[in-house]
Amino acid sequence: MSSKAASSTAASTSTISTSLPVASLGTPRIGPRRELKFALESFWSGASDEKALIEAGVGLRAANWARQKKLGVSVIPSNDFSFYDQVLDTAAMVGAIPEIYGWNGGPVPLATYFAMARGAQGKTHEAGCGHAHGHDAAHGVPALEMTKWFDTNYHYMVPELTREQKFVLASRKPIEEYEEAKALGYQTRPVLLGPVTFLKLAKSKDAGFNSLSLLDRLLPVYIEVLRELASRGAGWVQIDEPCLVLDLDIVAQQALQHAYVEIASAVPQLKIMLATYFGGLGGNRDTALALPVAGLHLDLVRAPEQIEDLADFPDERVLSLGIIDGRNIWRADLSRILDSIEPVVAKLGKHRVQIAPSCSLLHVPIDLALETGLDPEIRSWLAFSVQKLEELTTLGTALGSGRAAVEASLKNSDQAAAARKASPRIHDAKVAARVAGIDGAMRRRASAFAERSTVQRKRFNLPAFPTTTIGSFPQTAEVRKARAAHGKGTLTDEVYKIYLQDQTARAVQWQETIGLDVLVHGEFERNDMVQYFGEQLSGFAFTTHGWVQSYGSRYVRPPVLFGDVSRPKPMTVEWWQYAQSLTKRPMKAMLTGPVTILNWSFVRDDIARSEACRQIALAIRDEVADLEAAGAGMIQIDEAALREGLPLRKSDWKAYLDWAVDAFRLCSSGVRDETQIHTHMCYSEFNDIIGAIGAMDADVISIETSRSKMELLDAFRDYRYPNEIGPGVYDIHSPRVPQITEMTGLLRLARERLADTQIWVNPDCGLKTRKWEEVQPALVNMVAAARELRESA
Ligand code: GLN
Ligand code: ZN
Repeated sequence: MSSKAASSTAASTSTISTSLPVASLGTPRIGPRRELKFALESFWSGASDEKALIEAGVGLRAANWARQKKLGVSVIPSNDFSFYDQVLDTAAMVGAIPEIYGWNGGPVPLATYFAMARGAQGKTHEAGCGHAHGHDAAHGVPALEMTKWFDTNYHYMVPELTREQKFVLASRKPIEEYEEAKALGYQTRPVLLGPVTFLKLAKSKDAGFNSLSLLDRLLPVYIEVLRELASRGAGWVQIDEPCLVLDLDIVAQQALQHAYVEIASAVPQLKIMLATYFGGLGGNRDTALALPVAGLHLDLVRAPEQIEDLADFPDERVLSLGIIDGRNIWRADLSRILDSIEPVVAKLGKHRVQIAPSCSLLHVPIDLALETGLDPEIRSWLAFSVQKLEELTTLGTALGSGRAAVEASLKNSDQAAAARKASPRIHDAKVAARVAGIDGAMRRRASAFAERSTVQRKRFNLPAFPTTTIGSFPQTAEVRKARAAHGKGTLTDEVYKIYLQDQTARAVQWQETIGLDVLVHGEFERNDMVQYFGEQLSGFAFTTHGWVQSYGSRYVRPPVLFGDVSRPKPMTVEWWQYAQSLTKRPMKAMLTGPVTILNWSFVRDDIARSEACRQIALAIRDEVADLEAAGAGMIQIDEAALREGLPLRKSDWKAYLDWAVDAFRLCSSGVRDETQIHTHMCYSEFNDIIGAIGAMDADVISIETSRSKMELLDAFRDYRYPNEIGPGVYDIHSPRVPQITEMTGLLRLARERLADTQIWVNPDCGLKTRKWEEVQPALVNMVAAARELRESA
């Protein structure tokens, strides 16, 4: 039989649905052209009303359902959409709304929802007004805390619960969106964040109570939602319990058991697909297998070893096999996946299996088809969410009807995999030789901190509590417009450069005027702290529409690290020189560290992450050396993403921290004692990695501490961290302007934990997302707070 005949026979049979079910666990919500961002920002700015925003949501959801349907997805999710964040949605669903937001029951208004997400500016804000409790209507309210979603670069809003927390069904979003889909003709599988993961992600201001103790109060709300979904026709609901891939103690394991037994007995007619992702079940395997649920989703990309012992899964359970990487953008090697999955499907029986991405596709861009500008060779190695669902439908058909049914697609995939492996663009012998030549001395500063500090104090002669910022100033619409025009070629290099110089000069001058001690150039020339470097390094490629959600309406376009990394020429020296030429005060040079560049990129999957990181570290080391030679006395190397790269399981931490710290030291240790190395980290919890932070041996570290009320500093105190620290004194994620007293209050808390000589005064993070109208009064207040401290100290 000719292959042509074989495939045409198979093609005709495959139309009578002999594919394995293909499930989607969640899809990007931002829209192919960032429609959600524009709708939100227009609403927040007052340019459009609530109705327009709601309609934008309706449109995006409809488009998502239609796209998945068209791609042949058989299990389509609903309630995976969110105006801001699915954890915040869950808090709203169960009425977990802290008192300060002034919610009085009933449906949660959008204004309340967004106040929790972003904080809200009060109606008036007179400085020095005597209210001790800062959160009344006149002063606005701060946002909830925000932190990384597991080991991704997505941030969720941390629910805040009290010991007395009551839960009530407040937002009916899951039900409404299920109905919305149904009205459009889609039978969906609604997605809920599971009650145990929700509670585990929450935090409480009341000391010494385990949020899991609230489970019995929370479950009735979940049961109410599930009952209603069932009564409206939902056959299956996907409940995400990614906490199952963490190290869980017995209390959490029992909570899971308890939750799902309760749910199963309260809503026996509903089938639950319990989704786990970002790792393997590990020590929670027995717990997971004992849960009375109808289906279990496993991440076989992160934890492929789980495929070995699927045989003892309870008979009646449907297995959802996460076989396409939901966290990276490489095209899958379909034949290889089939090799490993076919025997399993044969053993389990087709009726028990569905296939899916490893996790929600929230973490990858939407459609490779939009990347018309991308180098065609690199493009042929990639797959975004649309292509990943296509890969799944191909796999589904191959598993359902045999490989012959999709012969052409498989051949295509084989060829792409082989071509990528063989491409000369990936390997650079010079880079390999340099990496092989790294020795211990390259990873050590010449002297210990105490000695360096003496020389540096003499050199810079800064006042107590020196003030500085984290690097970026507002990336205004005007700056972005100029960049876009330059990108399109309508603004010449020369004019663009003059424009940026002007922005920089104004920022430098303004910093001098308000009395900041250590200045920054403002990063106006940078589109993004990782992209800017990636674009100048060999081994990286860039997309034009490859956006993924970072938090709220903030999306990023992660670089694609596809090959060996090197630095053809200096990347930042000229801008630093220009900025320093405008002032006598120290101008901090600004770099992004190797671990952050790695963690915020889509990383090649053909070498170890540690190896790729070392290559980047060498490139940054070259830049540090050039900056020092040009006269830079302070060089900040941002490692904003160091902590988020931590493996989810404690047992894997040491290996990661060893190579991450090593990379930082490698890039920062080539300088003289009098050169002050700064680093910066955002949203980090330091308790568990303080040893590694110490080992990085940066002269100064700035961190985010304002939202956690300086709690993070306990770790530094307990560790007796010897170097200098700038604990962030105000939250830059919120538009509200901090009062002087708030900041002196926070600094007082810092002084309870650190020596005065250690403390710097700075915001939590860079100011690029803020407006000048917010930044100006905020920094003026910050400088005033530092001055007050100096006077009182
Ligand atoms: N230097 C960067 C900035 O100020 C740091 C940003 C970050 O850590 N996320 O924008
Ligand atoms: Zn930061």
